[in-house]
Amino acid sequence: MAGTAPKIVVVGGGPVGITVAHALTRAGIDFVLLESRPSIVMAAGASLVMSQIGLRALSQFGVLPAIEKVSSPLSMCKRFDHEGRTIGDAKLFTYLHENHGCASRIITRRSLMQVLFDALPAEAQSKLLPNKKMLSLEKTEDGVVVKCTDGSSYEGTLVIGADGAYSAVRKHMATMNGQQDTPAEQQQQDDKELPYLTTYRCFWMRFPRLPGITPGDMTESHGPQATTQATRRPPRRYSDDDQAAFVAKWGHLPLNENPNHQNRDGLNVLTLGEAYTHNIQTGFINLEEGVVADWSRGGRAVLVGDAAHKFTPSTGAGCNNGIVDVVVLVNKLHKIFSKASTSANIAEDELAAAFREYQDARFDVVTLECSFSSRATNNASWGTSFAKFMDLYVLSTDFILRLFLSWAARETALTPVFDFIEGEDKIVGKYPWLHKIPVPQAQKIV
Ligand SMILES: Cc1cc2nc3c(=O)[nH]c(=O)nc-3n(C[C@H](O)[C@H](O)[C@H](O)COP(=O)(O)OP(=O)(O)OC[C@H]3O[C@@H](n4cnc5c(N)ncnc54)[C@H](O)[C@@H]3O)c2cc1C
Repeated sequence: MAGTAPKIVVVGGGPVGITVAHALTRAGIDFVLLESRPSIVMAAGASLVMSQIGLRALSQFGVLPAIEKVSSPLSMCKRFDHEGRTIGDAKLFTYLHENHGCASRIITRRSLMQVLFDALPAEAQSKLLPNKKMLSLEKTEDGVVVKCTDGSSYEGTLVIGADGAYSAVRKHMATMNGQQDTPAEQQQQDDKELPYLTTYRCFWMRFPRLPGITPGDMTESHGPQATTQATRRPPRRYSDDDQAAFVAKWGHLPLNENPNHQNRDGLNVLTLGEAYTHNIQTGFINLEEGVVADWSRGGRAVLVGDAAHKFTPSTGAGCNNGIVDVVVLVNKLHKIFSKASTSANIAEDELAAAFREYQDARFDVVTLECSFSSRATNNASWGTSFAKFMDLYVLSTDFILRLFLSWAARETALTPVFDFIEGEDKIVGKYPWLHKIPVPQAQKIV
């Protein structure tokens, strides 16, 4: 590696991995991305709510118009109890729009991946390699070697693990020096491999637009032990029998209003069981939660997205925060790589320091967001009497929701942007962003 141009190996081509590909392309840093699935763009995974922090970062790649074409804006969150009785709508998305200058948008994972893939230059697209499952990670004198299950191997100055909750990079980075672990280190290693706790399970499904579903609304049902979220628009995996048993138990839960369908209490609602009979795709997964303690190993391996932190989906924050990880990390890498012509010019210590700064910048933010998400799931599934009280009488109060979102807006306004990508800040709301998108040189007033 020493005399060769610096290069980064990215493992994982999900929404966060492909964001890394865009950011490195813009930063002029060479890379290769290894994805275990047979294709980068696939109909896999639940739909995603893209929030203002994720959309603003992606807007810097010029993809916002394309995202808007294949996604729907959200405005109202309608809420029901398990019997289908309304428990008050929440203007969550309206206030988020006002505060930060654009609507949250619901998009299928496939559409998001397609937009991001299409927006990459052809040369960058050719660096995204499907059917490449990482098997091992070794440290060399001046970089890393990633080996794949098909026998191929890829050298780089460092590896970025964007390979999700069960990250192979996270598993291998602790021992990548090839040293034999002591029992204590082995225990630490086991904890690193499974750093997330699971309290909830999630059954998700995509189904066609059935009567009663209003574009732009999200509906939720809240009640003991279970909650649903529906919008228009895994991994211990569970079997088809597990899914069928789940639907048999919870099929009565309301997903939305439906003039053509009555539930067991005679209310006009679309139930989970009814929607299941129309489903296009389903999944049944554990909802892991947590924040990994160490996001990097020396200056050779670093984690982003679900590999570093995992939230329940209730607040739609996991992917969006993964995208912001990429912003912070690649801003730092850009500074280091732009002054180095060969791998030998990049000191491991400098990279290690950058990785620590990256984690320091993100750790408290994602820990807070992770706990919000967990509490949101607990409140919606009425995990305790207090949670039920909060859900029914406190958080549904418009005044309190607005107050809470104003408080959160001040934190959101601190979210960074790519500091090396110039452009126009099209997303501007009531709370001004602390970090502005750099103005193109030509437009600067001298
Ligand atoms: C039901 C549900 C709803 C959600 N809703 C939202 C939402 O509304 N908004 C939001 O922001 N987030 C949401 N999330 C969370 C979001 O899906 C994740 O945060 C996001 O997918 C993380 O992206 P990632 O790229 O880090 O990881 P992943 O999406 O897990 O992608 C990792 C990629 O790495 C690949 N990979 C894994 N191992 C290897 C290997 N050894 N070698 C090579 N490749 C490998 C995988 O195939 C995959 O393509 C939701 C999650 C769930 C379960």
